[in-house]
Amino acid sequence: MIKVAINGYGTIGKRVADAVAAQKDMKIIGVSKTRPNAEGFVAKLRGYPLFIADISKKASFEKVGLPVAGSVEEMCRQADVIVDATPGGIGKTNRQLYEKLGKKAIWQGGEDHEVAGFSFNSSCNYKEAIGRQFVRVVSCNTTGLCRIIHEIDKEYGVSHVHAIMVRRGGDPGDIKRGPIDAIVADPVSVPSHHGPDVQTVLPHISITTMALIVPTTLMHMHAVKITAKKEIKRERVIELINQHPRMGLIKKSLGIKSTAELKEFAMDIGRQRSDVTENCIFEESIYVNKNDLCFFQAIHQEADVVVESVDAIRAMMGAESDGDKSIKATDDALGFITIQNSH
Ligand code: NAD
Repeated sequence: MIKVAINGYGTIGKRVADAVAAQKDMKIIGVSKTRPNAEGFVAKLRGYPLFIADISKKASFEKVGLPVAGSVEEMCRQADVIVDATPGGIGKTNRQLYEKLGKKAIWQGGEDHEVAGFSFNSSCNYKEAIGRQFVRVVSCNTTGLCRIIHEIDKEYGVSHVHAIMVRRGGDPGDIKRGPIDAIVADPVSVPSHHGPDVQTVLPHISITTMALIVPTTLMHMHAVKITAKKEIKRERVIELINQHPRMGLIKKSLGIKSTAELKEFAMDIGRQRSDVTENCIFEESIYVNKNDLCFFQAIHQEADVVVESVDAIRAMMGAESDGDKSIKATDDALGFITIQNSH
């Protein structure tokens, strides 16, 4: 059993913890928090030992009924691999600790590529992660872009990608985030960081990205145009989406046109936390004109990177050399089947 610690039990950390706990070859040895809050009680209910960043705050946790198993350093000592899901920018400050202890660590997309020197997506570069000490799982938007761009690139060769990201203002639980009433060009300058971020995984891809933030919390929506080196066949694109373990096709028959209806559907079909793990590509939006392919895809920011983090653990530990087998093991353990199989 691979012993996994989750440093930062928040939006991403709590999901990775549950996904790890569901795997046959992994177990959670602990999760960490900075202050006692509702997520601490979720950890307690799940039976995950709770460690804290600042051990001097132990009494404040125990006073509200959250037993503390020890410090973050003690948690890391017990682990084979640490998934760092602390807020963006904090993760890099933990690198020194992981280095000191000689432990493997995975960071999330809020950190720069340089924190690990290697950026990961299961479908694109699993093999290159095998045996590594440090890996960064790219952000939710970059994960969604990499999955589809790589498939089209393998089939047709990609000349250029132009993608516009309409991003959620904050996660559903983020009461302090905005905007409340604005469409924010974020950044105003072009390109946004997403294009260069895709290139950390797929360095040969030419890509321009633009990004907006809107007052919504549920999911992001991408408008993507991919120009290929050969003429694209629409039916083949649909086949590629259907064959991919983490790409979903939203068929016309479902009658869904929005992120709100998608999340409602995910809830109705019983997905844990109504998580949408796969890229949701709207079948009706798939438009092909010679070498150009256009489509809309919805990306659930809280969910798509979770399964990628589980695969990264397996690769780094050398527990599975075949990326496809790891993806299948991860998804099977979660009972995950892509959304087109539910309608
Ligand atoms: P979050 O704020 O929801 O959770 C972070 C958790 O880390 C909190 O529980 C906090 O108490 C804890 N924490 C803070 N400082 C800590 C420390 N020094 N030691 C231990 N724990 C500490 O953040 P999140 O949204 O889960 O983001 C985590 C990472 O995942 C970031 O890099 C982010 O960019 C990335 N990410 C987030 C999303 C998303 O939509 N939320 C999507 C993809 C990637």
